[in-house]
Amino acid sequence: MAAPTRTARPKQRRGEGQWALGYREPLNPNERSKKDDHPLNVRARIENIYAHRGFDSIDPGDLRGRFRWFGLYTQRKPGIDGGRTATLEPKELDDRYFMLRVRVDGGALTTEQLAVLGEISQTHARDTADITDRQNIQYHWIQIEDIPAIWAKLENAGMTTMEACGDSPRVILGSPLAGIAADEVIDGTPAIDEIKRRYVGDPAYANLPRKFKTAISGLPDVAHEVHDVAFVGVDHPEHGPGFDVWVGGGLSTNPMIGQRLGAWVPRDEVPEVWEGVISIFRDYGYRRLRSRARLKYLVKDWGAEKFRQVLQDEYLKRELIDGPAPEVPERPADHVGVHRQKDGKFYLGAAPVAGRVSGSTLLAVAKAAERAGSNRVRLTPQQKLVVLDVPEAEVATVRGELAELGLSTEPSPWRRGVMACTGLEFCKLAIVETKARAERLVADLEKRLADIQSEVEHPVTVHLNGCPNSCARIQTADIGLKGQIVTDDDGRQVEGFQVHLGGGLGLDAGFGRKLRGHKVTSDELTEYVERVVRHYVAGREPGERFPQWV
Ligand code: SF4
Repeated sequence: MAAPTRTARPKQRRGEGQWALGYREPLNPNERSKKDDHPLNVRARIENIYAHRGFDSIDPGDLRGRFRWFGLYTQRKPGIDGGRTATLEPKELDDRYFMLRVRVDGGALTTEQLAVLGEISQTHARDTADITDRQNIQYHWIQIEDIPAIWAKLENAGMTTMEACGDSPRVILGSPLAGIAADEVIDGTPAIDEIKRRYVGDPAYANLPRKFKTAISGLPDVAHEVHDVAFVGVDHPEHGPGFDVWVGGGLSTNPMIGQRLGAWVPRDEVPEVWEGVISIFRDYGYRRLRSRARLKYLVKDWGAEKFRQVLQDEYLKRELIDGPAPEVPERPADHVGVHRQKDGKFYLGAAPVAGRVSGSTLLAVAKAAERAGSNRVRLTPQQKLVVLDVPEAEVATVRGELAELGLSTEPSPWRRGVMACTGLEFCKLAIVETKARAERLVADLEKRLADIQSEVEHPVTVHLNGCPNSCARIQTADIGLKGQIVTDDDGRQVEGFQVHLGGGLGLDAGFGRKLRGHKVTSDELTEYVERVVRHYVAGREPGERFPQWV
């Protein structure tokens, strides 16, 4: 007898933990932790208990969870190699020191603020300071006992670590040239300031499914394509300068380019629209699995049209105005070099290697800028530093002083194009070392590729990540390097990288190709990059950019 035919049952889709659909019960330990105690409450415990009683008094749920809402992560215990990262429990990797991230929205600092950042580094962080590719300053070697004093110094100077990490609205990226660039469509600074004033620290927006990254810029120089929400300057033919809205970009696993909503928003409405988008994420975002808890997954499932409809119908209660797409540059500017501002003064963009500076350097930059009559400095999304408002007569002096600090305004293309995440030195998730590797790579390439340097019109971007996350945006680099353990020619397991080739932003917006078997050991990295760049320079068509050549 023939087996009975089974009727296929429609596949039951498991709930994604969306609050708006009634899933309020936590479906994973992170959601449980946030429900048990709002993460912003941890500040009081740090100030009143942990800073007095010391590291051992810290509740594990705070240490590895809620501390992030104030920019605090334990750093990696020294001496544990990357091959052991995945085999150890988090507590075995925890050092008794912290990484502390200070949010610098729009990358905008006064020289007084820069000096405070430098002094904190010297006093509390063993003179460490990294400029991150999200325009933050990141310290290491911080002790719990020092946190209240550090917060007091930061807050007196108008800065904060609030929501620098955690499932919250992180630092807002903005153009380093906001307000001074001749070709800027509109200055996004008032919108950034207003969002920060209204919403950062508001508990209603501090328990999101995961992190929420924002970029607001009148110039396309902030990697807007890979943000949860981005407002990009655009001139509307009828309404004038405003912003084009993008949602659902992101990197790490399953990278996605953001989608345009096709809506034009005037600057004073940006905070309201931003609130609508973050509210959709809070209410409809997927909370069941951490791996699907970024806005990009919701946008992928809904599409831009439905997203805009829900935003208008349920949150704004009005229609948005249709608008054109912004103009796209060949590649986003990094603002390195000496350039004239629209008011006739100059800005000087300088390149530390992979964002690594020090407290002493920050203090010295603040003093050099002030001596020249400037009091504004900017951090860039490419881990660079820009001094604004330098009078023409002072340009040469400031340029020389920056160079003496290791901050060249005329860097080689390699120094200019290399970025690196924190890596094995301090990051508990890291598998390989990155910052020192980047420094060696730059020094090596400066020597080995000196003969073709003048032929590389655009810096070939080389981004190094210490693990499969994408803190250094490897998928959008010409040569993206994802840290992992690889097998060398002698069959040994050693530090190395999976290579992604031909990613980009701007006209080349897209993700680098991960070629099968394309892996390189850390020791072979210089030879590998040299080989690829020489092939590119020799084999490209006139004007062909790296991603097109790949
Ligand atoms: Fe750490 Fe990985 Fe991010 Fe690098 S990419 S900072 S190793 S989590």
